[in-house]
Amino acid sequence: MPVAAEPNEPAAWAGGILTIDLSALAANYRTLRDRVGPAVTCAAAVKADAYGLGAARVVPVLHRAGCRTFFVAHLAEGAAIRPLLGPDSTVLVLNGAMPGTEGALHAAGLVPVLNSLEQIARWRTLAHQAGTTLPAALQIDSGMSRFGLSEDDVDTLLAEDAPLAGIAPRLVMSHLACADEPAHPANHAQRTVFQRLRARLPSLPASLAASSGLFLGPDWHFDMVRPGAALYGINPTPGLSNPMQPVVRLQARIIQTRRIGPGTAVGYGAGFIADRPSHIATLGVGYGDGFPRAIGGHGHAVLPDRPDILLPIVGRISMDCLAVDLTALGDSPPAAGTALDLIGPHHPLEDAATAAGTIGYELLTGLGTRYHRRYRDDTSPQDTSPQGENG
Ligand SMILES: *Cc1c(COP(=O)(O)O)cnc(C)c1O
Repeated sequence: MPVAAEPNEPAAWAGGILTIDLSALAANYRTLRDRVGPAVTCAAAVKADAYGLGAARVVPVLHRAGCRTFFVAHLAEGAAIRPLLGPDSTVLVLNGAMPGTEGALHAAGLVPVLNSLEQIARWRTLAHQAGTTLPAALQIDSGMSRFGLSEDDVDTLLAEDAPLAGIAPRLVMSHLACADEPAHPANHAQRTVFQRLRARLPSLPASLAASSGLFLGPDWHFDMVRPGAALYGINPTPGLSNPMQPVVRLQARIIQTRRIGPGTAVGYGAGFIADRPSHIATLGVGYGDGFPRAIGGHGHAVLPDRPDILLPIVGRISMDCLAVDLTALGDSPPAAGTALDLIGPHHPLEDAATAAGTIGYELLTGLGTRYHRRYRDDTSPQDTSPQGENG
């Protein structure tokens, strides 16, 4: 993977370089699909601009890898990606339709996840007005208290004469709150509620697991899994080694270096004071790029040539820059223009997220628009085999 840019490349004009490996993304999709086997549909969560990586680039790659079902959070996100996909694919809107937007959602070729009796009623009204039957997914709240029908809602719904008149339900789904903690009792409790409530609804393909739920095992796969994070290289099995390939590399270029003596302060608020003769580099990435301010004093950078040495990020993060202590590199420090990894092959996303007191999800979705973005794509065009559509 290229590290520094030639001076005349746009990459050299930005303080940071964000490299997104679309081949690794496709490989991660295949890993997850193979893990659930051919009887289970492997969908993809591409909300929040594909977790910050660019839905317009990510969606076609996933389609080429065989994905035919895509989840976004909002109508606007769905409308943006729907034109990238053909009639062989389904785009589901997790939040459902906000009041008054049902017609727009349908006209955009999207399928809502109906989360409440009110959303069901509004979707039914649209179907009635249109004189047709409209597809939808139904969500059950199995214990997360976020989206979906409660047990009482299911009672109310089923007490109606034709509760789903005009609706062609395609999927019944729920979402796990604690799947990243395999021993958490909420997992089995939610599965039990999901099973009980879905048995009361029309017989439909079912989906419960996202990335971490998929790794809880086959009892959690049902007919469809909906990974997002794992596709983008986030570890779905926290505490165990990451079964996914890294997709993201974030590099920051050295703007200048300086030698400072003991007692010398670095950055806003004199947040770091050297206790020895030190060699400090100023790098061109800051919180204005979405690199978390909370990582100041905790995180590390890595010189790709010396992956064995973690270089501390010292002092506070500024809007446009941050400081790294290069002292451990010895007497021949890297020159201005050299790119250091803030996230990279020797410094995983999770380590940076932990240092910032957050999770990989937030770090990725927060990465800003100021980086020079590079997409690597060696995905082979012959890998077009679609998966059986059972959801
Ligand atoms: C975000 C989301 C997913 C994907 O979750 P990951 O943990 O990123 O795999 C799946 N289903 C629902 C309902 C979601 O909100």
